[in-house]
Amino acid sequence: MGFEYFREYKQNSTIKIKTSSTNLIEIERRVKNCHLCPLSKTRKNVVFGEGNKNADLMFIGEGPGANEDESGKPFVGRAGMLLTKIIENVLNLKREDVYIANIIKCRPPNNRVPTLEEVTVCKPYLQEQIAMIHPKIIVPLGSTSYHHLSDDYNMPISKIRGEVLEYGDAKLIPTYHPSYLLRNPSAKKDVFADMLKVKKLL
Ligand code: SF4
Repeated sequence: MGFEYFREYKQNSTIKIKTSSTNLIEIERRVKNCHLCPLSKTRKNVVFGEGNKNADLMFIGEGPGANEDESGKPFVGRAGMLLTKIIENVLNLKREDVYIANIIKCRPPNNRVPTLEEVTVCKPYLQEQIAMIHPKIIVPLGSTSYHHLSDDYNMPISKIRGEVLEYGDAKLIPTYHPSYLLRNPSAKKDVFADMLKVKKLL
């Protein structure tokens, strides 16, 4: 069953991925009707992403959880509240000043980590979003996001967080996922340091 989904994607992918003349609304319309992987069967809502379409700063998490699946919005649960606090209190920005998205647009059942196959078929949508928004800085939140953005699958997030890396025209500054901070509050100081670096480069 899963194989058929992925094969369908490969057959259609060159037709579906358009040029930079498309806009975010058009990408969102396609994503909301997407059935390219089996996660479309279990999702309640597609979580496309939201925020300033001309943002200099983009946060990219792993994927929707239960609250996000319910609401169709990214980072609305406890981890989302913490991310909002970081944006407001450390970066001195409003949440609506930045753009927030995920590596994958539909919730994996039981919040499991998305598979490589699922990410492979979904990531082109994110790449289109990034190309359209054209941020100066991208912050991957957590290891799953960093690994799939960088294709550097062996690097632990604890070793790479806070580094300023090249990502096309943008800088990539990975940090811990807010969910990790909820479980490990002592890591907040690391994220604070990483966000100061982001602030300086904005
Ligand atoms: S996760 Fe991505 S590829 Fe899979 S159905 Fe949702 S939007 Fe489509």
